[in-house]
Amino acid sequence: MDWGSWVGEVHTVAVTRATCSLCGQQAETDVAPLTWLTSVEDGRSLLYCDRCTRENVRSIEGKLDSVHW
Ligand SMILES: [Zn+2]
Repeated sequence: MDWGSWVGEVHTVAVTRATCSLCGQQAETDVAPLTWLTSVEDGRSLLYCDRCTRENVRSIEGKLDSVHW
């Protein structure tokens, strides 16, 4: 039995990592960390890393403030 080629087959399995839609940063797993934000826009699901989420939250809060005034 040729174990070398068998192991090679296993390693060809591709892992899709969660990637930030804004800066392109990749998570360490295929599942986005809890600190990341998922958003659905125009039927596409977008991912924002913790850094981009913080900047988004700031702009969202700014919009809310302007509505209050
Ligand atoms: Zn990002």
